[in-house]
Amino acid sequence: MKKLMSILLSVWMIVSCMAVGFADEPAYTPGTYTAIGMGRNANLSLDVTFNEHAITDIQVSHVETPTIGGLALEILTEEALVHQTSNLDVISGATISSAGFKMALADTIKQAGGNAGQLEKYSRPAQDYQTEADVIVIGAGGAGLTAALTANENGASVILLEKSGVIGGNFIAAQSGVNAANAKIQQGIEGTDAVAFKEMQMNNDLVREKLVDALVDNSGAMADWLTSKGVEFTVQENNPIRLNATADGTTTITIVDALTRALEESAVQLYTDTRATELIQDENGKITAVKATGRGGVEVTFHANKGVILATGGYGKDHDRVLAYRPDYSDTITAETAPTTGDGLDIALAVGGVLVDMGEINMHTNVLPGYGMLTSIYMPGGRQTTGIWVNKEARRFVKEAFNNGSNVDAILSQTDGDAYMVFDAEGMNDTLGHLLELGIVKSAGSPEELGKKLGIDGEALAATIAVYNEDIADGTDDAFGKAGLEILDGDTFYGYRFKVGVHYFMGGVLIDPQAHVVTESGAIIPGLYAAGEVTGGVQGTTRVDGTGVGDSLTFGYIAGQSVMGDPQ
Ligand SMILES: Cc1cc2nc3c(=O)[nH]c(=O)nc-3n(C[C@H](O)[C@H](O)[C@H](O)COP(=O)(O)OP(=O)(O)OC[C@H]3O[C@@H](n4cnc5c(N)ncnc54)[C@H](O)[C@@H]3O)c2cc1C
Repeated sequence: MKKLMSILLSVWMIVSCMAVGFADEPAYTPGTYTAIGMGRNANLSLDVTFNEHAITDIQVSHVETPTIGGLALEILTEEALVHQTSNLDVISGATISSAGFKMALADTIKQAGGNAGQLEKYSRPAQDYQTEADVIVIGAGGAGLTAALTANENGASVILLEKSGVIGGNFIAAQSGVNAANAKIQQGIEGTDAVAFKEMQMNNDLVREKLVDALVDNSGAMADWLTSKGVEFTVQENNPIRLNATADGTTTITIVDALTRALEESAVQLYTDTRATELIQDENGKITAVKATGRGGVEVTFHANKGVILATGGYGKDHDRVLAYRPDYSDTITAETAPTTGDGLDIALAVGGVLVDMGEINMHTNVLPGYGMLTSIYMPGGRQTTGIWVNKEARRFVKEAFNNGSNVDAILSQTDGDAYMVFDAEGMNDTLGHLLELGIVKSAGSPEELGKKLGIDGEALAATIAVYNEDIADGTDDAFGKAGLEILDGDTFYGYRFKVGVHYFMGGVLIDPQAHVVTESGAIIPGLYAAGEVTGGVQGTTRVDGTGVGDSLTFGYIAGQSVMGDPQ
């Protein structure tokens, strides 16, 4: 995509120089102007240079995730230069960064004496699709990228469809490493064998043992394959089943970066902004094609000679679907960042697939409305802080601990499922500082004022803090028994609202150990495979940390081989 944009940019430079030569009235006051826009991780800043007739340079400073917001900013920068407008389509999957860029660019145009509102709209054109390949992979998260590349290496021509404007899915949001056994890098290290990994997975109720075996037995080869793509793993000392790779930040960002490079060097044809909607079967029930919708609503049918791999992830972005399986989660939001709405579930169901364990949803206690989960991606300082949690009534209600389990019910039972983190300057860190800039974290000179800013009773908050400070003065939290709490005082108090968020879906499309999608009776649907979070049965009732990521990669790896290995 980058190469294509560079060519377009060069063509524009020639055309615009010619155009500038004909322009009479100067449109801008030459100079470099600066403006700030809202990003997802923090505010972003644009330095935009103008000559009398054109925007000639755009420099963006940001701390967005490189492969999501960062990539979107690169695309938008080039489009803005090529088409000389801030009136651009947002990049789906990176809408906050896109909106921040457009707003800041419009601001600099105004500063330069121009009128952004009068500039022409640029919409990305419909794509020129190749419509036939051996394998069609749907979804470009961890599972889809792995499946597409593996199938391609096994001799398949591959088309990879991604509904958003960026790749990496929710996979890229994961903070942990990858669980695997018997990878080359684990050789000679105690506790890195299949038995240890399997024992850990089998602790979960509802897991299908055959799927766990497939996960465990192929995980080492998957990790070795990633190593061959340039991912440099280390084995985690206190948990040798866990492989980490932090060259580019988190393990998942490092993996997506490596797979993106591999994708660029491969013959896999990637189409972003292309949403698969339906499968076509022949008279024998074999899956032969995928119907999809591209940019501008263009309908396209992709023919698959060998098979189709579903890798569409979970469905956190479809709250109604969550409620259909868990009506008790009405007060939840989601930690998912990609536009995952469960399309793969409908697609599989329509051709005879079956959904299992759909009520099993992993929750996280640390999700901020309008933002997502607090993560430490590219934000030194981490995601957590010391302080107290209060409810809408400004009262403490539980022993504070961000986790995936025990405090979920405590938060959900508060008014509107709302909780508020309250802390002082001691608890401030870089992550929270960025969120302060974005207006998500509030600050005030007193608890009363902070309460007002948070929309809760300030007097009650002051009283809660006073009782709490008195209570822990002797080092003991009499109310909830939490250790390590410190008195809240000083000139500035901070706080933010948070909720429980759906975070990972253990349930989904049932597959067999070769990643075939199966029917209720266990029969294979010929030509249909699935991998990653869209599937069910691998995780059971809990997502073990590192196995969400590992499941997607390993079953992507299995599916990419099965689709070429199966007799056609
Ligand atoms: C905030 C967060 C933190 C996490 N932390 C961890 C962790 O620490 N450890 C861990 O093991 N797991 C973690 N997980 C879970 C882990 O990220 C998931 O297991 C993993 O992302 C699933 O990968 P996937 O490829 O199956 O799906 P995804 O990465 O979600 O990719 C699915 C892709 O399919 C695309 N798509 C959907 N529908 C269509 C369609 N109709 N047509 C075309 N494309 C489509 C989506 O846009 C998306 O890009 C976390 C998840 C979140 C949200």
